[in-house]
This record gives sequence, structure tokens and C-alpha cells, in this order.
Amino acid sequence: MSDVALRLTGLTKTYLQGTPAEVQVLRGVDLELRAGEAVALVAPSGAGKSTLLHIAGLLDTPDQGTVEVAGQVASGTSDRKRTGIRRQDVGFVYQFHHLLPEFTALENIVLPQLANGASEAAAKDRAMQLLDRVGVAARAGHRPAALSGGEQQRVAFCRALANVPRVLLADEPTGNLDPGTSDQVFEALMSLVREAGLSALIATHNLDLAARMDRMVRLENGVLKPVG
Ligand code: ADP
Repeated sequence: MSDVALRLTGLTKTYLQGTPAEVQVLRGVDLELRAGEAVALVAPSGAGKSTLLHIAGLLDTPDQGTVEVAGQVASGTSDRKRTGIRRQDVGFVYQFHHLLPEFTALENIVLPQLANGASEAAAKDRAMQLLDRVGVAARAGHRPAALSGGEQQRVAFCRALANVPRVLLADEPTGNLDPGTSDQVFEALMSLVREAGLSALIATHNLDLAARMDRMVRLENGVLKPVG
């Protein structure tokens, strides 16, 4: 297994829109995320952080450049192959939980495992273990609307880890929470990441949280630069 969990090479992305006609968001982004490494992504608003995370997570395609996840080159392959890599090896967490409202917390973590071929019993076991790890096992039977913001995000972390991915990508995962809750929820995320030996790229505006990761990169003018 490759020691590099995520390799981004020469990524460019330009959006065509009204005025100005073109927005060149990424101008050659390179990044190597080693196995077990947690990297903070900091960027001014509008710099292209969500664009970068979506491309890295195979939810969008770059104009140029390649994305390699867990030794598999995803660029230039079929949608079906990319979906397979994403489902198996990438976990994604958004600023808002995006849990399915009509399903319970447990079901939200079970469903991606079923889609990936797990048995229902194994999927439920894993979901309960994950919920227990982040301290919300007692809320397993509740729908998202009955959970607090912090609990919703903890469940979203469990869902992202459900299929034992190699890479976790997170876009301001605690950006929607009050500062006290944000700190605890971030701690829960980091302990899941560390325990699983996951590689993580986590966008945050919060420099205290960023400092708890192994290193920091800044997206500015379409390229990534090391910080510090
Ligand atoms: P960030 O997450 O850093 O705030 P985004 O990646 O969301 O930045 O957006 C970067 C720039 O690209 C912004 O100027 C935004 O308006 C533009 N942009 C993002 N998505 C699209 C799109 N689908 N079509 C056109 N422009 C877009």
C-alpha cells in the first residue's frame, strides 16, 4: 500500500460565468497527504477551498491535473470507477451535516455501508461502535432534527468513516457551531482520525484548530503554499 494516501498534481480549474467571464480558481495545486497525516487547509473566503476539496474528493473534475487516492489514479477514469473509489476510500464532511432527514442517526451510518456491500448486521455493529466513540450512541434511534448541532456533526463524522476510508476531507466541519461546541466536536473528529490512522485534509478558518494538525497549507491565488 502506498505511503501517500492522497496525491494532487497540477490541478487547475476555471469557471466560466458572467462578469468577469472567467474565474481561474485553481492554477496548479500540488499536495501529498501521507498516510496518517492531518493537514489544515486555510484560505480566504472565495479562494477556492470548496472547489479544491470537491475535486480531491472526486465529486468534481479538474480541467487539468490528476487526483490519486490510495494509489489509484482517479483522473481520466469512468464515472463508475471514480464513484467506486470515492465510496470506498474517501470520507467527506461538510459544514452542514447533510444527514438524510427521514432516517435515524444509526441508519444514516448504515446506508453507505449497505451501498458498499456490507451486511446489515455488520453495518449496524460498525455504526454503533462509531456512535459510541463520539459519545452519541444513546441518540442512535433519533432523526437528525431531534439532535443538537454538535450531535448532528458527530453523526456526520461517523457516516464519513463508515466504509473505513483512507482519506477524510472536511470543509469547515465545525464552522456552523458555537465556539465551545466547536472545540469539543473538533476534538471528537481528531480522535477518530488519529485512532483510524486516517489521512485528513481539513479546511478551517480557526487557527487554533489548524494548529492541532500536523501541518498547515494555505490556498492563495490558486496555489497551495506551506504555512509556518
Ligand atoms: P471557498 O470555498 O474558498 O469560499 P469556492 O471554491 O466555493 O471558494 O469558490 C471559489 C470561486 O469560484 C468563487 O469566486 C466562486 O464564486 C467561484 N465558483 C465556485 N463554484 C462555481 C461554479 N459552479 N460556477 C461558477 N463559479 C463558481
